[in-house]
Amino acid sequence: MEKELILKYVLQNAINYNGKANPGAIIGKVLQEKPNLKPKIKEISKEINKIVQDINKLNIEEQRTQLLSLDPKLLEKKEVKKKELPELNIKNLVMRFEPSPSGALHIGHAYVLGLIHLVCKKNNGKLIVRIGDTNPGNIVKEAYDLIKEDANWLTNNSIDSFPIQSERLEIYYKYAKKVLELGKAYICTCDPEDARSKINSGKACPCRNLEAKEQLERWKLMFSKYKPGDAVLRIKTDIEHKNPAMRDWPAFRISEKEHVKTKNKFRVWPLMNFAVTIDDHEMKVNVTIRAKEHRDNEKRQKYLYDYFKWESPKCLYVGRINFSDMKVSASLAKRMIKEKRRTDWDDIRLPFLPALRKRGYQPNALLKFAEEIGLSEADKVTNKKEFFKSINSFNRDLVDETSDRYFLILEPYKKLEIKNAPKKNIQLDLYPGVRLGGRKFYTESEFYFEEKFKKDQVYRLMHLYNIKNREFLSEEQDERLSAKMIHWLPTKNAIEIEVLQENNKITKGLAEESIKKVKKGDIIQAERFAFLKCLDNNKFIYLHK
Ligand SMILES: [Zn+2]
Repeated sequence: MEKELILKYVLQNAINYNGKANPGAIIGKVLQEKPNLKPKIKEISKEINKIVQDINKLNIEEQRTQLLSLDPKLLEKKEVKKKELPELNIKNLVMRFEPSPSGALHIGHAYVLGLIHLVCKKNNGKLIVRIGDTNPGNIVKEAYDLIKEDANWLTNNSIDSFPIQSERLEIYYKYAKKVLELGKAYICTCDPEDARSKINSGKACPCRNLEAKEQLERWKLMFSKYKPGDAVLRIKTDIEHKNPAMRDWPAFRISEKEHVKTKNKFRVWPLMNFAVTIDDHEMKVNVTIRAKEHRDNEKRQKYLYDYFKWESPKCLYVGRINFSDMKVSASLAKRMIKEKRRTDWDDIRLPFLPALRKRGYQPNALLKFAEEIGLSEADKVTNKKEFFKSINSFNRDLVDETSDRYFLILEPYKKLEIKNAPKKNIQLDLYPGVRLGGRKFYTESEFYFEEKFKKDQVYRLMHLYNIKNREFLSEEQDERLSAKMIHWLPTKNAIEIEVLQENNKITKGLAEESIKKVKKGDIIQAERFAFLKCLDNNKFIYLHK
């Protein structure tokens, strides 16, 4: 029975890794399916090693045939899940991701940036993260650094460069002049309401037909005389376009709001469609992936590409991920941080990358999530629980093998004496069957327990012995006792610890002495509780079960 259970996971692991199974990766799966095997972990590990040796001698086809007869679902699952990323067949591929610095990157960004990174990597391309900061009124100063750190983290340092648009204004100005000279743009000084209703009814305002020379005069005035709202540079499209939203789009406006980086040096700001077109051309971007609501923007930008006789990039689109019960919004998070309802962008409760990083999520878990959704235009509705269930399972696969095991007891706990307790010196494994030993315990009769003991119920102190009615019962593990497995700590040498929980509250507790070995940044598994990341000496943050 257990042999079969082990065998199917060994086969699955072997098939997924070119025919060579890794013993360390199997034990977790086996215990996940049958947690009651935990006490027999030594025997199970031995068995796994034996089976792995046998299975690794087979070729993948033989392994496949065996798994097919044993549990075909394990075979299918992996294959159906794997959506192929596109082969682009483009020489000198350059892609970009353009966040605005209105906050840190969130889990929605992680999907899009993650996907762009994966597609780019598969096609040997270069990836640029361009900071779109041409709206001075919507910038969070610390976002520049946060975006850089998080993008580097998420992509395992694969970003080629981080150009910042507010440092490129002179370039946009140069092209604004060019398009005015071409007669393909105009500076509208009409009352904004009038201009809008004219455009909506498909009629040109008087500014549209002025000569290029006059337009260039007006362009100069945008830098001096005109006040914000007085003048807008528009790109000519088709004034009678059947979709009014396509008619003559705005490309520059005046704003006197102070900019975080350039202060009051500039007052003429390009709007997104203009800056994006110029940058994509100048940076040789040839494939874009963005949210499908940008489809109309692609059409708007096409006019500019045509006027300059430039080749436009190939555009691919993805759908949105909507969370039914969670607001993923930079402006909301910013407000909550300001009102001190959240500590900062890395507050454990926020769905932003600084928080996920701090908790111990691995970039590859998020990349796996992006890969699993793939390049799909379908909108997805999910909720917090589903989302975390999926990234937690990816993350568990990544951290399990490297996380040492420790005993932890959290408040409320009790100090209790076990009658007739034998004194014991035992040594437990840091990782069962793999990293042996490393955790020494000396037990007498006093322990800390979280458990509320029931009368006449047999309990097994994990890896130690059985008790009943707070009295020593027997040493050996015995299924007939139907003992409830509990964890424990000897009262001597227990270390005080703190765990920052998901609700941002700190729970105090105690841990075994060997937890002193854990260093800042290490991820551990607190047995029977959760994976935790060490934030500092004896301070931990909750990661996941
Ligand atoms: Zn006008």
